[in-house]
Amino acid sequence: ERKAALSASSGPGATSDGHKVPLLANIGGPADVPAAVDAGAEGVGLFRTEFLFLDDSKHAPTEEKQIESYRKVLEAFPEGRVVVRVLDAGADKPLDFLTPADEPNPALGVRGLRSLLDHPDVLRTQLTALAKAAEGLPVYLEVMAPMVADRIDAKAFADACREAGLKAKFGAMVEIPSAALRARSILQEVEFLSLGTNDLAQYAFAADRQVGAVSRLQDPWQPALLDLIAMSAEAAKAEGKSCGVCGEAASDPLLACVLTGLGVTSLSMGAASIPYVRATLAKYTLAQCERAAAAARASDTAEEARVAAQAVLSGE
Ligand code: PEP
Ligand code: MG
Repeated sequence: ERKAALSASSGPGATSDGHKVPLLANIGGPADVPAAVDAGAEGVGLFRTEFLFLDDSKHAPTEEKQIESYRKVLEAFPEGRVVVRVLDAGADKPLDFLTPADEPNPALGVRGLRSLLDHPDVLRTQLTALAKAAEGLPVYLEVMAPMVADRIDAKAFADACREAGLKAKFGAMVEIPSAALRARSILQEVEFLSLGTNDLAQYAFAADRQVGAVSRLQDPWQPALLDLIAMSAEAAKAEGKSCGVCGEAASDPLLACVLTGLGVTSLSMGAASIPYVRATLAKYTLAQCERAAAAARASDTAEEARVAAQAVLSGE
C-alpha cells in the first residue's frame, strides 16, 4: 500500500487542490545529488557548504576547488532552484582558521555568519566562487547566510553579496528567535527567508541540539516553535517574499502539512523523505492544512499538537 501511495505521487509538490509547495533536497555536496534527482527533488533547498571546508581545518579550500564543487551541483538542476548556504562554521562544526578556541559557549559564540563577517576574505572567496560557478548556467541560484540575528547582520551579508557581483537572490536563515520576531525588518535587506528549525528550536528552548537529555525540547512539534515559524511566514507574505523550511521539521510528512498550513512556501529535506512528504501533502487541501496548523498551534504540548493535527487531517 505504501509503495502504491508513493508511485501515485510524482512531480512537483502540491496539496490536493493544487497549492504548490516545492519539495527540495538538503545536500552536503555533489555526492548527494544523484539521490536528490532520483527522489524527484525540484532543486536544492539547503546546500551545506561546510562539508567542503571540513577536509582541512587549517585552510579554506581554494576558489578553484570551490567553483568545481558548486558547479557540479548547479549543473544537476537545470531550470531548478539551488539554495546555497555560505559556510556555517563554529559550535558543532569548528574550523581552526575561523573558530575562536576559547569560547565558553560555542553555540552562543562566533559561529555562522558571525565568523564570516570576522573573516571577510573567506566570505568573499566563497561568494566569488559561487558567482563564477553559476556563470552561463540556467539555474536559479539563491545564496543564504546562517545565523542571522538582526537587520545589521542581514545588511552585512547582502552588501557582501553585491560586492562579490553575485547574480543571485540572497536570503537569511531564521534560526535565532530574534530573527523570527523581527522578520519584517530582516526582509528589508534580503529577498527570502529559510527557517532552520533545528537551531531555531535549540535557541528558543535553550536546549542544546547535541544533548539527548533535552531532546523533548527539541521536538519540532513544540507549539512555541510553530508560533515562531508562523510569525516568519506571515512576515514574508506581508513583504511578498518567500519563506521555506530547511530544518528536520520538513521531513515529517504530517508536520510538512502543518508547515504548509502555517504559510511556509517550500520544504527542503533529506532526499529519502521527499516521496513520503509529496504523497502526504497530495492527500489534503490547503484549507485542511491550515486547519491542522491552527489546531497544532492551539495545543499546549508537542504531543497534543501532533494528535490535534492528525485528528483534523483524518477528519475526526
Ligand atoms: C537548522 O539549524 O535547522 C539547519 C537547517 O541548519 P544545520 O542543521 O546545518 O545547523
Ligand atoms: Mg542551523
